[in-house]
Amino acid sequence: MSQVYDRVALIGLGLIASSMFWAIKRAGLAGEVTGYARSEATRDTARRIGLCDRVCDTAQEAVEGADLVVLCVPVGAMGEVAADIAPVLKPGATVTDVGSVKRHVIEAVSPNIADGVHFIPAHPLAGTEHSGPESGFAELFDNRWCLLVPVEGSDMDAIARLRALWEGMGSNVDEMDADHHDLVLAVTSHAPHLIAYTMVGVADDLRRVTDTEVIKYSAAGFRDFTRIAASDPTMWRDVFLTNKDATLEILGRFTEELFALQRAIRTGDGEQLFDYFTRTRAIRRGIIDAGQDTDAPDFGRGKANP
Ligand code: NAP
Repeated sequence: MSQVYDRVALIGLGLIASSMFWAIKRAGLAGEVTGYARSEATRDTARRIGLCDRVCDTAQEAVEGADLVVLCVPVGAMGEVAADIAPVLKPGATVTDVGSVKRHVIEAVSPNIADGVHFIPAHPLAGTEHSGPESGFAELFDNRWCLLVPVEGSDMDAIARLRALWEGMGSNVDEMDADHHDLVLAVTSHAPHLIAYTMVGVADDLRRVTDTEVIKYSAAGFRDFTRIAASDPTMWRDVFLTNKDATLEILGRFTEELFALQRAIRTGDGEQLFDYFTRTRAIRRGIIDAGQDTDAPDFGRGKANP
């Protein structure tokens, strides 16, 4: 794989940024990668583990002269970070982000992008429940989708280059409109996370009654909810606050279905339950056939397959 950008700046040095750094290095996609994180502790860790060619003490220093700037901070912090770096962005540079919500990020970042700088929002559909600079690994994006969400007037060459970077990091790349992205992600990621958080919360209340039985027998299904519910609280708070409409729409539908199943249980309608579970089982098969998970009985959640 050949070099796509001369200089890349990663702003925020958590799971996604650190995985990007290792994936960029694996394939030689950039000449130099600079990095910045808000806390001194994260910058020190980054320096200790060799995360980034150069770790800078300010975002502006990291961004100066960069051909690609990647905003890797929580969705709620994107606007503030974009305003901070705006004065030093190089003409002709591309600014992108990895945020899990797109409409909000576009509204928060776009006003800070000067003419002559390209803004191309993006979202890699890959992650784990871990966060921070030490949680990243080069294989995170392998065979996972990355969605590019170009805004009006996005430059075709700049899009093609960003696509080449994500493909070089192992991703499959698609383009999508921001509102559609936010609805699709509400179904595939945001609502499932909220449901997992709720289920774990319910079990936590129950634990006071059943002592440690909830933990002891967790492999019966609960364990898989806890993995999702261990995800970063800041990131997920921001996702729900900024993808409010789509998430509420999906949760409304979810509640209706839940009530229907609740009634089927109450009235002993086994046929309805059986048909419903048969339909949902087929969806799992589709995900495995599409290479987005393995058929292993532990759900195949190895390092590169979160
Ligand atoms: P992370 O591991 O928690 O790292 C977040 C980074 O952002 C840290 O370096 C943190 O700095 C910095 N940061 C936090 N608040 C900030 C603020 N107000 N101003 C400046 N910097 C701030 O997060 P992540 O999982 O890499 O997620 C980063 C982005 O990727 C989020 O927008 C998220 O929605 C998106 N995303 C996440 C996943 C996932 O599964 N995790 C998947 C796809 C996309 P300190 O360490 O100094 O506090």
